[in-house]
Amino acid sequence: MSAPAEPFPEIAPALTPDQALAAASRCLYCYDAPCVRACPTEIDIPAFIKKISTDNVAGSARVIMGANVLGASCARVCPVEVLCEGACVEKAFVKAPVEIARLQRYATDYAFARNVKLFERGAPTGRSVAIIGSGPAGLGAAAELAKQGHVVTLFDERELPGGLDTYGMAEYKMNKDVALREVAILVEQLGVTVKQRTRVGRDASASEPGGRSAAASPTRGGGVVTHISIVELEQSFDAIFVGVGLGATQRLGIPGEDLPNVREALSFIEELKLGAAPSLAGKVAITLGAGNTAIDCVTQAKLLGASESFIVYRRGPDDMPAFPYEYELAKSMDCGFRFHTQPVRIERRGERLALICERTEMFYGALRHVADSQHELLCDVVIEALGQEKRKSFLATLPIELEASGRVKVNPKTGQTSNPKYFAGGDCVNGGSEAVNAVAEGKLAGKGLGAWLATQPARSSAA
Ligand code: SF4
Repeated sequence: MSAPAEPFPEIAPALTPDQALAAASRCLYCYDAPCVRACPTEIDIPAFIKKISTDNVAGSARVIMGANVLGASCARVCPVEVLCEGACVEKAFVKAPVEIARLQRYATDYAFARNVKLFERGAPTGRSVAIIGSGPAGLGAAAELAKQGHVVTLFDERELPGGLDTYGMAEYKMNKDVALREVAILVEQLGVTVKQRTRVGRDASASEPGGRSAAASPTRGGGVVTHISIVELEQSFDAIFVGVGLGATQRLGIPGEDLPNVREALSFIEELKLGAAPSLAGKVAITLGAGNTAIDCVTQAKLLGASESFIVYRRGPDDMPAFPYEYELAKSMDCGFRFHTQPVRIERRGERLALICERTEMFYGALRHVADSQHELLCDVVIEALGQEKRKSFLATLPIELEASGRVKVNPKTGQTSNPKYFAGGDCVNGGSEAVNAVAEGKLAGKGLGAWLATQPARSSAA
């Protein structure tokens, strides 16, 4: 079985030039615009919309990307219903907000198609910064620091850059090529270096004094990983930004989770993005969890041809962590929901699987099992989408303080950690949020790091 010949079409189609002009004409160019205040990266939304309406689309893209280096990605994957569009005053007046996300996509697509120059690199400072992780937080920090004139090197152990933006966004929301194009622009226009398949954190100096380890090990996606030690990073760079995100999907802790066809949400999404997802034609797919990633999985399983794709969740619809519009989207795609259903184990049934569940109910504000309610749901695939683990073991190897929860402890105004040379942002700090929040935190830490570097004496040698 192979993946569909065509990638999933993006759920929100692109605007034509006439549609973009019409959409832009609805903006009231509000003073102290609420849409801007609702955007974590503070894009000047009325300014970029105004430029579209005056046929300065390249200028519009510069406004967007100058504030949010992932402006094209965020135009596709941001939860705008609860951010800029949710705050738009037009929503209150005429029940429909200005289509900010589609206009943002229109402007950035225009600029990308024409290789418009979007960034200017700052005058060289002679300072260098290592960034661990090339996801949204790392890229937000990289852009800010490169614009200040610092030499920026991103280290990432994966085959492709972009982190969750490349590997973890549902394909029907965004193709990975958009994320890769944004990284390429940073490399081309801001001189950022990206070192892929490079794993940070093993102390190579223990076996090879003072140097980069020649050791290599297999990694997901093929190829090898070059190891670079923390010691070497500290010796070679003036400062370090940590943007490693979160780890693997949490396990439910029930028997049968290791059976074949019990899948982990992120690898399920990733397979699809890499064109390696098997067809689910005629199959039954069950997704465990009720957050936004679970919605991505249940809808993608449906798009892969599943005859039945539904979520199993131990609480009710009002308790779902997913945004309401994501819930509505899944229902509109004929996905199902089994609420108040608690999985207790998974068993093999020939070529198929049986998810054994019990019913739950609320009793004086607490969830309890319903007696004699055990039943089984036959299926072909179980996808676990229960949120991601914190990367405690990796973070514990860094000379920085962690919260008891495993998050990196930072100064929220600067992103600086307990170790002045280290800054951090994104999911490893906030515990898991939207890509746009990670970009904003990376940008904030980039500013904080730049201000701190300006107070430091020059090193004798730079990377
Ligand atoms: Fe335009 Fe709506 Fe923002 Fe006002 S709130 S500036 S109408 S997009």
